[in-house]
Amino acid sequence: MPKIYDTVIIGSGIAGCCSAYALQQKGQNVLVLDRSAVAASGGSGAAGAFVSPKIGKGSVLQTLTNEAFEYAKSFYLQYFPKDFYQTGVIRIPKDADDTEKFPLYEAFNNTTYRKITQQALTKLGINNSDESFMFDEAGVCDAPQMCRAILEKVPFMQIDVERLAWDGEYWQIESSLNDSLTIRAKNIVLSTGYQNELFDMRYMGVKGTWGSRGDYVSSLDLNVSMHKSISVSANIEGIVKLGATHVKSKEPCKICNGQPLSSLFEKASEMVDTSDFVLKETFCGMRSGSKDYFPLVGKVIDVPFMLENYPKILRGAKPEIEHIPNLYICNGLGGRGFVFAPLMAEQLSKLIVEKQEIDKRINPDRLFLKWCRKL
Ligand SMILES: Cc1cc2nc3c(=O)[nH]c(=O)nc-3n(C[C@H](O)[C@H](O)[C@H](O)COP(=O)(O)OP(=O)(O)OC[C@H]3O[C@@H](n4cnc5c(N)ncnc54)[C@H](O)[C@@H]3O)c2cc1C
Repeated sequence: MPKIYDTVIIGSGIAGCCSAYALQQKGQNVLVLDRSAVAASGGSGAAGAFVSPKIGKGSVLQTLTNEAFEYAKSFYLQYFPKDFYQTGVIRIPKDADDTEKFPLYEAFNNTTYRKITQQALTKLGINNSDESFMFDEAGVCDAPQMCRAILEKVPFMQIDVERLAWDGEYWQIESSLNDSLTIRAKNIVLSTGYQNELFDMRYMGVKGTWGSRGDYVSSLDLNVSMHKSISVSANIEGIVKLGATHVKSKEPCKICNGQPLSSLFEKASEMVDTSDFVLKETFCGMRSGSKDYFPLVGKVIDVPFMLENYPKILRGAKPEIEHIPNLYICNGLGGRGFVFAPLMAEQLSKLIVEKQEIDKRINPDRLFLKWCRKL
């Protein structure tokens, strides 16, 4: 007998884990599938997983990020406090230009913060840094452990999903490595990160950015995490994490070569005393971002149907949009997956279970007509 689920979530990074959790909390019978173990391959395994607000001049993306930050911080503290370290995060100006901009950013710091002087930074063991913002409520997750904890009560199977077939009532999940697979689902959530290829979703413009993280054993007395051009975590149980994601690429990573980027270590050495750092482990991963840097959460448009039935769409027509039945996405979380995922998952679960309309800022439909006009 085939097993039938309310929703099958594909991808066990932080987006898939939070989606599964939110749907299960709303009473759904869910299953998570991933071609690797939980948070073992995609961006979520490699993430430094800082959970901190965004600074800037009050853009829509900053506002959304900071709404997500408030939600994520409370979510992790309430439900998964063992895997969230509320170390505080200091946001340090990257360079002289950035130092000049910080006073302009201050008016838009809509989450709790305080200013921290150069002398106070030095006392904390942070060198070569100008006056900064301290976000005491921010922190760092243990990324794969957080994903595993969120999935603790959710069934999981290691399956490489190759095709999804809709029979008018249910989705059938297909994988050539497992041809006796009999999993069916009313709904599918795609949380596949940068490998967003199961349907034609070019309009979302998902792109990968490579990053590295090195975990170093150290006895450095460092109680606070910080972000300058790279992230340096507090010393948590004898480990300091250095990480950054800046290399745009479609190809697998050729830069790290099993070693963390040496520039990462050099930059960290300008900030903190790295003299006793011993590399314990290197991680490398691709994070996925959308065309406009906003998350992609909601229904998926039936692109072949739209292009075939409404050819004038290429010249600016605006027909009613047709979505693929019962197919959803939670992706495009960029460099802030651990900040965005809990709130995005909550919104997605409200769409799926309560049929609540999705927030326009994250609805992938926003990108479709513009994409069509450029075809
Ligand atoms: C070095 C680094 C540092 C980072 N630092 C931070 C940070 O400090 N704070 C922060 O918030 N974010 C950070 N990020 C970003 C964050 O990691 C990502 O936003 C987040 O991991 C995205 O999660 P996801 O679930 O969308 O995708 P992923 O974690 O990439 O998960 C996608 C999953 O889908 C699976 N999959 C894909 N296709 C299939 C298929 N067909 N069948 C089965 N399984 C499939 C993959 O195996 C993978 O496990 C960092 C990223 C990197 C790389």
